[in-house]
Amino acid sequence: MRSSKIASDNCVVHVPFTLFPSPYPKHLYDTCLDIQPIINKLMLKMANDTSFLETSLENVIPVDEFTRNLLNIQQTVIKEGIAQPILSCINRSDYMLDRPVCKNDVQQPQELRMRQVEVNAIASALSTHSRGVTQMHNYLNKKYSWLNEKLPGVVEFPRNDSLKLIADSLIKAYDAYGNPSAIILLIMEDRSLNFSEHLQIELEICKTRPNIRLMRQRFADLPEAIELGPNKELLLKKSDEIAVVYFRFGYDPSNYNFDQAWQCRLTIERSRAIKCPSIGFHVSGIKKFQQLLHSQQQLERFLTSSEAQQLSRVLSQFWSLDAGSDEGELGYQYGLENYQSVVLKPQREGGGHNTYGRDIKQLLDQIRNSPERQQYILMELINSPREKNVLLHPDNPGQDPSSLKIEPLISELGIYGNILAEAQVELDNSAAGYLVRSKLAGVNEGGVVSGYAGISSVVLIDEVEADLSLFYNLGYDE
Ligand code: ADP
Ligand code: MG
Repeated sequence: MRSSKIASDNCVVHVPFTLFPSPYPKHLYDTCLDIQPIINKLMLKMANDTSFLETSLENVIPVDEFTRNLLNIQQTVIKEGIAQPILSCINRSDYMLDRPVCKNDVQQPQELRMRQVEVNAIASALSTHSRGVTQMHNYLNKKYSWLNEKLPGVVEFPRNDSLKLIADSLIKAYDAYGNPSAIILLIMEDRSLNFSEHLQIELEICKTRPNIRLMRQRFADLPEAIELGPNKELLLKKSDEIAVVYFRFGYDPSNYNFDQAWQCRLTIERSRAIKCPSIGFHVSGIKKFQQLLHSQQQLERFLTSSEAQQLSRVLSQFWSLDAGSDEGELGYQYGLENYQSVVLKPQREGGGHNTYGRDIKQLLDQIRNSPERQQYILMELINSPREKNVLLHPDNPGQDPSSLKIEPLISELGIYGNILAEAQVELDNSAAGYLVRSKLAGVNEGGVVSGYAGISSVVLIDEVEADLSLFYNLGYDE
């Protein structure tokens, strides 16, 4: 990828990565794969239920212009009559291993469990680098037999079809549009650091469907470049009809800091092109919904009770902070008293927005009587085991291999999913491939492109059979 630290566009650095794969108990990994279709379904139900989105966000809307703009677009296109009933969302659900702290007996750690961090409904990235690192780890492991099957408890290296899932999902949306001469438009940032991922997606599509053209355009250039045709076709430069708009940008308020940005997003939503994601999915990925839908009972609004039960097993505890409600006051008090075991989150994506530890107390004090308070939620802090691994970062070029250190890392597992539907009717609901990002323990944020973490892969272990101390630092005070 390009580096944010090097101005030249012609200079690339390697993506940060780990030397070894990251261990996950097989039953927990399987759980995450199994529930992905339920998450896809939940996202679809939410995206289709505008009145639920409106009611749920009524406290956030007055204080969060970005969310308000997104919801406005959804309301506008519904009022005008939807031009394209086919909805699409490639998403990634992220998890961390959690080892609940046993307060009475610190020597007796609890069993590991999975906790969902969030669902990314727009611009879920890194599938290509994830596949690359999986291939590299598999190869190195064959060559050096670090983790062979003879080692007790090592089960397997799972397949990683992350890139294929993204490419296949775009092809399915393209076919659903039904015009074999139309194109796929990928919307990107002004200076794309992770440009090679876009190109690999394009190549993967080309491998199976060489006739599909994928064009990349900067979001800021689109107001000049796109327009609606007589039947609400979305046209690029007056000539190419766009079948699928794939957003790899547009998830943060700062992405809309040019003239006509919101008007441009509205034009896209008004059009017959299939949006990936459609605006309703983008809204459904807002963190407030994690707080509103974290228990089995809440989930049963959209899911069967068995689906809701399955999903709720990986969900954390959340608290509202809304002023003027009993629940929000309870959450506020809980945050003040338990700031060490929660995370404070605003309704933002893309890293760098969370508050931890003592800073939570300070921020809660600041927002006590401010309307800003409504845009935050509190989430239980996930206590991940520290994995023994080596992080290789491009900021240390020419590093002497003998100086590489095994360090305590914390990993986050993402599972990719796709939902394609005509209104409520599912045309595709699939799950495949993963991403593992590992960061140094003690670092709060988890982004790879933003420089906090490196890419790893998965080795599945049997939690009972395996010698966990081989993989994790198990000291309880770590
Ligand atoms: P973003 O949309 O910015 O990616 P996330 O909710 O994924 O927001 O949070 C960013 C990072 O913060 C995550 O990648 C993870 O490393 C860390 N994090 C988020 N929630 C928790 C939590 N409940 N406990 C521990 N760490 C968390
Ligand atoms: Mg995240």
